[in-house]
Amino acid sequence: MQTILTKPDECILCKGTDFGFFLELKDHFLSKQSFSLLQCKSCGLMYTTPQPDINDIQDYYNSKDYTSHDTRDNSLKNFLYKIARKISLASKLKLISSYKNYGKLLDIGAGTGEFINYFHKHGWEVSGIEPNEKAREQARNKYKLNVGNIDDLNGIAESSLDVITMWHVLEHTFDPVKQIKLNFKLLKPNGLLVLALPNYGSWDAHHYKQYWAAYDVPRHLFHFSENAVNNIAKLTGFYVHDKKPLKFDAYYISLLSEKYKTGKTNYLKVGINGFRSNWAAYSGHSGYSSLIYVLKKN
Ligand SMILES: [Zn+2]
Repeated sequence: MQTILTKPDECILCKGTDFGFFLELKDHFLSKQSFSLLQCKSCGLMYTTPQPDINDIQDYYNSKDYTSHDTRDNSLKNFLYKIARKISLASKLKLISSYKNYGKLLDIGAGTGEFINYFHKHGWEVSGIEPNEKAREQARNKYKLNVGNIDDLNGIAESSLDVITMWHVLEHTFDPVKQIKLNFKLLKPNGLLVLALPNYGSWDAHHYKQYWAAYDVPRHLFHFSENAVNNIAKLTGFYVHDKKPLKFDAYYISLLSEKYKTGKTNYLKVGINGFRSNWAAYSGHSGYSSLIYVLKKN
């Protein structure tokens, strides 16, 4: 597992050159290696350093525990996760349908295809992109859906899509600006880009600090503040049309963070901290654990 020491010369979003050390933390999930977070002082975008080499990044994913790719695990955690996922699929459909009823949707980071399958069943024309070969195969075999690898993005016609979704994916990409610019090209003039991102301005992030599971270094290469999302939208021709909380994430991230911090699974504490996070956000004292940003073309 090679890593490259990265101290950015200038911020990829705002061109700021002043970076501050934010936090030192470990890859709790897999490698146990240490990483640092550097924060752009002008816009708040944070950078994981050192970054894994692009050729080695898969080494940090290869585990059966990576929930977004695993559907066979029968633990209570996974059971709760599946219930949450069902509710979350319904709420994603409700959200996107409030802007557009039907159309062509591309999900980047489609995993095993649950999300696009759900939209397909509700009348959407869907396709997906997924870098993980096993997940891709599972999506194709189980749902008979069109899920390609990253190179297939280049084969999509310009201005052909109504909606592109990236659920907790942008923070994994090596060049988020390039990715959003490409999305801009692929979307129709009134197209929507839906991004879900963890929010380090949340109560649970402040509470768990270096154990906060949504830092998820080094798989998360960037960490977006709400201001950083405004900046990436502006830079690429979009504007932030709407913002919605992902309230389940406060519980799911607290579950993982509690485990990283104490080595134990304490559902009572998880319930309390998930609630506290959502309550703090609801009452305006901090941000939600994760946010959905709906971007529109300018
Ligand atoms: Zn910046």
